Amino acid sequence: MSTSLETLSPCLSICHECDLLNDVPPLPPDGCARCSRCGHILFRNPANCVDRTLALTISAMMLWIVANLFPFLSFGMPGNLVHTNLISGVISLYEQGQTILSIVVLVTSIIAPALQIAGLLYVLAPLSRGRRLPSARRTMRWLGHIKPWSMMEVFLLGILVSMVKLGGMADVIPGVALWAFCCLIVVLSWALSILEPLVLWGQLDRAERVGGPERQ
Ligand SMILES: [Zn+2]
Repeated sequence: MSTSLETLSPCLSICHECDLLNDVPPLPPDGCARCSRCGHILFRNPANCVDRTLALTISAMMLWIVANLFPFLSFGMPGNLVHTNLISGVISLYEQGQTILSIVVLVTSIIAPALQIAGLLYVLAPLSRGRRLPSARRTMRWLGHIKPWSMMEVFLLGILVSMVKLGGMADVIPGVALWAFCCLIVVLSWALSILEPLVLWGQLDRAERVGGPERQ
């Protein structure tokens, strides 16, 4: 894998706190640029941020698969143990006439995280080897639009409330998918938090283009 132990080029950056236009000098690896007036952090240059984000994204992909394939919750009633997983919960909501709610759960808890993971892998896997696939920049812009639709935390909160409420009627047993889902929330948020846009766009500019021309 290539590394991003590179010094960021000097640039101009506006402080989001006090609106001062800062003339930022070259930033070494693991350096941090601050506003010269208020001290607000303008951006960082984390070492190996592309490789680290890629490793976390691969972990998130495996967690997403486990979260969707294995039992999410099991309900134990006298003489009966019912297993549910994420997609069967969505289907159950739809069959009960909760069409809009089932679509919201499907989009925010299954599709949006999957698109985030797929988009990050599409851009970062080649970039870690110094290459750039067609439409990589467009993919990163789309990821910015998809991010608000990924609301796994809200879904998890609803599940926890349901577990407490159903606890009096049946034994609610968390499945391996529930733990994977919790880890997925943490790992995906971690991956997105360490990906510094300035470093990413700089590496995309320098990467060797693969395939057809880049579509903006
Ligand atoms: Zn400032």
